[in-house]
Amino acid sequence: MSAEPSTPLMRQYHAAKQQAPAALLLFRLGDFYELFFEDAVTAARELEITLTSRNKEKGEPVPMCGVPAHSAEGYIARLIQKGYRVAICDQMEDPRFAKKIVRREITRIVTPGTVTEPQLLKPGENNYLAAVAFKGPHAGLGWVDLSTGEFRATEIDSAEAASALEQLNVRELLVADSARDLAPPGKWVVTPVEPWTLAPDHAERSLLEHFKLLTLDGCGLGGKPLAVAACGALLAYLRDTQKSALAHVERPAFSSRSGAMLLDAVTVRNLELVEPMFSADLDGIKDATLLGVLDETCTGMGARLLRRRLLRPAMELAEIEARLDAVEWLKSETISRSRLREVLARVLDIERLLARVTLGTANPRDLLGLGRTLELIPALKALLPAAAPPRLRQVEASLDDCAGVRDRILAAIADQPPVNLADGGVVRPGFSAELDELRNLARNSRQIIAGIEQRERERTGIASLKVRFNNVFGFYIEVSRANLHLVPPDYDRKQTLVNAERFTTPELKELESKVLDAEDRMLALERDIFTEVRQHAASEAQRIRAAGNAIAEIDFFASLAEVAAARRYVRPRFSSGGEMRVAAGRHPVIEKLTEREAQRFIPNDIYMNRGEARIALITGPNMGGKSTYLRQVALIAVMAQCGSYVPADEALLPLVDRVFTRIGASDNLARGRSTFMVEMTETAAILNTATENSLVVLDEIGRGTSTYDGLALAWAVVEYIHARTGALTLFATHYHELTELAGKLDGLRNLHVSVKESGDTVIFLRRVEPGPAERSFGIEVARLAGLPEVVIERAKEILKLHEKTEHSVSDELNPPRRRRGEPGLQIQLFEPVGYQIAERIRSLDIDNLRPVEALQLLHELKEELKK
Ligand code: ADP
Repeated sequence: MSAEPSTPLMRQYHAAKQQAPAALLLFRLGDFYELFFEDAVTAARELEITLTSRNKEKGEPVPMCGVPAHSAEGYIARLIQKGYRVAICDQMEDPRFAKKIVRREITRIVTPGTVTEPQLLKPGENNYLAAVAFKGPHAGLGWVDLSTGEFRATEIDSAEAASALEQLNVRELLVADSARDLAPPGKWVVTPVEPWTLAPDHAERSLLEHFKLLTLDGCGLGGKPLAVAACGALLAYLRDTQKSALAHVERPAFSSRSGAMLLDAVTVRNLELVEPMFSADLDGIKDATLLGVLDETCTGMGARLLRRRLLRPAMELAEIEARLDAVEWLKSETISRSRLREVLARVLDIERLLARVTLGTANPRDLLGLGRTLELIPALKALLPAAAPPRLRQVEASLDDCAGVRDRILAAIADQPPVNLADGGVVRPGFSAELDELRNLARNSRQIIAGIEQRERERTGIASLKVRFNNVFGFYIEVSRANLHLVPPDYDRKQTLVNAERFTTPELKELESKVLDAEDRMLALERDIFTEVRQHAASEAQRIRAAGNAIAEIDFFASLAEVAAARRYVRPRFSSGGEMRVAAGRHPVIEKLTEREAQRFIPNDIYMNRGEARIALITGPNMGGKSTYLRQVALIAVMAQCGSYVPADEALLPLVDRVFTRIGASDNLARGRSTFMVEMTETAAILNTATENSLVVLDEIGRGTSTYDGLALAWAVVEYIHARTGALTLFATHYHELTELAGKLDGLRNLHVSVKESGDTVIFLRRVEPGPAERSFGIEVARLAGLPEVVIERAKEILKLHEKTEHSVSDELNPPRRRRGEPGLQIQLFEPVGYQIAERIRSLDIDNLRPVEALQLLHELKEELKK
């Protein structure tokens, strides 16, 4: 092969490359996929394969490297994992029959957001490709998982887009406006697309056409131009990259926010719903998250559903109760549950198998796996009898065994087919008479040859005569030099070796063409049968998807039931007036982590209501268990609305529209904002959006700034929530002064985490009790942490001094009555210099100030500050 651009092959290469300039092009040449030029350099480096070159002799060597076609998937997987896009250019005809150059086309472009290869996908996570369309303050967000066919969209405020994308755990994002900075690099791959693909008109037309619809109203997308635009861009991208009919991709559905409890990305992180905040802290415990505790699913489909529902708990009481009914039944029906789980354990991920079937990438084992899984469906149906609650009966009814597809697959595909179609043996014996005949011929040819060999030995008297085969001559007879005089005249000489000569006969020639022909036909026939069965399955994609969804539901409910039974959870009840009463509540994750430790988890109660107990202010020493208690309450609310039992002896809960959290210092520094700024931005979002149906969890507000600022802000925030928001709020603080608020705000109650003093040290009892903490025990806790004794003693001295001069901060923050002109809180808290400067500014008569004087004054003030 010459790599010169002028050769037909290289022209074909360049034409293909132009169609996918942003991707590494894998160009099929015989048994290899080859890469050229820059692509070759990149791939050789990333895959650690040898870089060679072509065309050396002509002076302009072209870098090249290649991977064997039969193991290409693994290599493609590695490139995608590293964030590359890969275009696959295949041979579209059999090289033996091609008249000129073999026709080649790009058959697929694989990108991080469109992978369907099992090695690249996490079983329990969706792999989303998303698109965002912006218009002023509004944004349309669409997301699709090509590996399962799920396709959804919503409309939100532009400002919420990044948080929403983060929560979906998007792998690849399509944006028209590359200037939009939605997240720090590295979270997802950003793919720029042509702005017209995001134009609502164009998008609507292509969606209607693709899904054969007259209107988008049925998908809930009517009158939602931004959501439609995002979906249109996704569809255009999928079509462009997959070159397939996308039969398994469902119609986009509008995902309304009203049906769900809202959890923003910060809260999801703070509550460690699906990912641990500090993976380094885990000490070998793999998944210290709520998902980790609740996930006893047996299938990837179930695991993904659980994850989605945890991130989007329900808001409708009827839906929640229906889920709880299903969990309750499965929890009590222990035998049915364990049988169901036995069957589920053998179920393969048919959503993902189906994706590969419809995209045409499923191999023989994938197809057989689909058939075998469909075969298990009747057993699942039988385990959901008429006595099961309505939700499970609905699932049972929608469990379609897709008998047609199943029977076809099981009849056609052999019991243990090879991964590669080209290896042969894919089709079950007995399925095709023609194939069986060809196989017989191939098998018999060995006997026939043995027969010929025997006969010719006898006829010629050459005992060492052999009939052999090679690729150059086909079948031949080999006779050693010593026996050449015995060769009969009807032998036709083909080749002379040092010690022997090789001959053919008309009989051998005929046999040869029959055998070779049979093998070709066998492979072609197998390919035809396999493709036909695969296409037949693809044509039933929507039914198979529905079966997959039903299996996911069963797995979801069985998992929650399993956990509820194993961990002694109770069924939550819901109050209508915003009351929350949890007896002996536990933190699901910490309870599990501390299971084997000497000190078991200490359960705690909580009582809140919309009246006198709407804010709980929790004080107590660091390490006392404040954060744990706060999160525990929020987690119980999330679990309950997800449809799960909860870790408590009894739980009466309000329906919560949104959980807000502001916990600790998040590691948002990567975004270039200080801890304090992040804290205040998050707090602002809470104050601006929380409703009386929200649950607000605030941990250590005001920590990121000086004590007085922090205390003042915390004070003001609590007052605001109390007066304006009315949300049930748990507020943990080490500012002991805040406990004075209980005397001023009628909806606030003090709680504290108890400790026992024992000499110079403290023992954490981890019990939450009414009333404020006595004091902060900071020094005692510091001693427990191992601070040198001299430091501890010195700290005690300083504390004593300070306590002598201390006056009630609450008087400062909330002076009895402030007359006009008196300096307010802010000024009092200023340092003396700042105070003087403020006074000078206050007394200025700006109307009569000349610019020069102003500059002069600024200069003086600056000098003052330097003192
Ligand atoms: P704080 O927020 O008051 O500093 P944390 O909530 O972080 O305290 O808890 C400190 C430690 O105590 C954590 O390691 C946690 O696992 C443990 N802990 C908290 N609450 C309990 C409890 N109820 N039972 C047992 N251990 C607890």
